[in-house]
Formats: sequence, structure tokens, C-alpha cells
Amino acid sequence: MFRYNVCINLKLKHMNKKMKKVEPRSNRISWDECFMRMAHLIAERSPDPSTQAGAIIANQNNVVVGVGYNGMPRGVAFEDVPWEREGDFEDTKYPYICHAEENAVYNANGSTKDCKLYCTLFPCNECAKTIIQNGIKEVIYDSDKYAKDSKFKTSKKLLKLAKIKLRQYSPKENGK
Ligand code: ZN
Repeated sequence: MFRYNVCINLKLKHMNKKMKKVEPRSNRISWDECFMRMAHLIAERSPDPSTQAGAIIANQNNVVVGVGYNGMPRGVAFEDVPWEREGDFEDTKYPYICHAEENAVYNANGSTKDCKLYCTLFPCNECAKTIIQNGIKEVIYDSDKYAKDSKFKTSKKLLKLAKIKLRQYSPKENGK
């Protein structure tokens, strides 16, 4: 009888262990963190020696629609253009380079209407226009280090006038 009871108890214990509900992970990263990390990762593809920027466009279902980093237009060899920041305009990188945000739009494999754009740097005024004209509804940015520069002041003004939602990324703000 004793042996029989021990055997039953062991069986029940085993069953209880087996029936314990498996819980889903609670410490997974938020979509914000996921896309911002992706934006920083793609920025590492940039050939620009001074600024590496990245952008990710995601739709309402959190599906990535476009990815971009700052670089030369397609087919233009890195060696054939200047990378200077100072000097005559045509001798600097500025008139040649495509910014991460505009590249993410150019590279989009679907509609960018009502999408969110994640960027490592606040977009400049030219990218702001691209963002607005392509129907993007929200911009989540990481660094705002050029906030005092007139290009970025104008950009902020333009995006606000166009009623684009602006939000600085915060890793603590864990969304779903
Ligand atoms: Zn730009």
C-alpha cells in the first residue's frame, strides 16, 4: 500500500509539472526599441566619415517598408565625390549625398502612407519635405544635436505645420 501511494504521488507530481502553464516572455523589446536599433544598425553602412545616419519606415502593422542610410545616389562611386564638410559648395559632400530619411523613402517596397519613420538624427528641412509629401504621419528620432541649426529649426516648424507627430525616442518608453 505504501509503495503504491508513493508511486501515485510521484505520478501526480510529474503531471503537475507537465501541466504548468507556459508563459510568454515579458521582457521582449518594444517596437520602438526594435526599429531604433535597426536604424542605428543600418547607419553603420554609411560611407560618410563624419556622420552616419539611419532610418527605418514601418507601417501601422509594424512591418518594415523602407530602410536607408546616408550615402551617394545609386551608381555614384564613393571615390568620385568629395567628403569634405568645408570649402566651396561643390567641393563638399552636401550637394551630392542622399540623407538616410530620403533613402528610406526611395527604397520603400510599399506605400509609406500613414507610416512611422524612425531616424537616428532629427531630419533636416529637405527630408522633412520628403516625409510630408510621402504621407508619413509620425517621426520618432533619437539625437537632436543640431536643434539650434536653422535647417533643423525650419524642419521642426515644417513638420509641426504639416501635423506630423514628433517624438524623441526614449528607451524606457516601452510600447507594444
Ligand atoms: Zn535630410
